[in-house]
Amino acid sequence: MTETAPPPLTPLDEAWERALCIVAHPDDLEFGAAAAVARWTGQGKWVGYVMITSGEAGIDGLHPQECRAVREAEQVASAQVVGVDTVDFLGLPDGVLEYGVDLRRAIAATVRRHRPEIVVTGNFRDTFGGRSLNQADHIAAGRAVLDAVRDAGNRWVFGEQLTGQGGDLEPWGGVREVWAFGSPDATHAVDTTATFDAGVASLEAHAAYIEGRGWEGWDPREFLEGIARPTGQRLGTAYAAPFEVFSMGWGD
Ligand SMILES: [Zn+2]
Repeated sequence: MTETAPPPLTPLDEAWERALCIVAHPDDLEFGAAAAVARWTGQGKWVGYVMITSGEAGIDGLHPQECRAVREAEQVASAQVVGVDTVDFLGLPDGVLEYGVDLRRAIAATVRRHRPEIVVTGNFRDTFGGRSLNQADHIAAGRAVLDAVRDAGNRWVFGEQLTGQGGDLEPWGGVREVWAFGSPDATHAVDTTATFDAGVASLEAHAAYIEGRGWEGWDPREFLEGIARPTGQRLGTAYAAPFEVFSMGWGD
């Protein structure tokens, strides 16, 4: 039996100035995208984070009312490690996020507020590859991000957010691509060799969460290497982060 090598990955386009990362939970970006973010902020780009929930249902031994503050503080610290100063929390309910108009409305507002060219979200396929099942909030969040990016550009959708109609925003149709990190259908990647350590430190900033999960002997560096090395082999670098790319234009 011969094993087929996984196909090579294409370098991501880095000709942009503003990116917004929109994910379901604190810690999602640190499980695969933070080193890429560190690279981009190091290039002088602006990157902002949006947490749809505060991950308040994420620690078994900690009541959501207390957990919320712990996880928000860890996310803000984790973001600072990779050069991100803006972290918004939308306050939707952790664990029971529903794909639908309400979720799209909340995400469209944040896209209109921050006006990015690139939107980064997490993998929203059914699995992470093989038999590792994805989680319901991730799937709802990613699908809603794709739709809300289009909604943000349409002045007739969620019009109450716009100036003169009760809000203080303008339509924003400037998002060129949505990138889903960690997708099993990744076609692209970014070299994270120089910023890999920052990515590890960013994940380590979620100390209460990692301890709360109780993973015996689990090592953040080892875990991230397990993704970054094979991805790097497909890009021709030591380390890399994989992304599935969705074009928001027509016919390209
Ligand atoms: Zn998550």
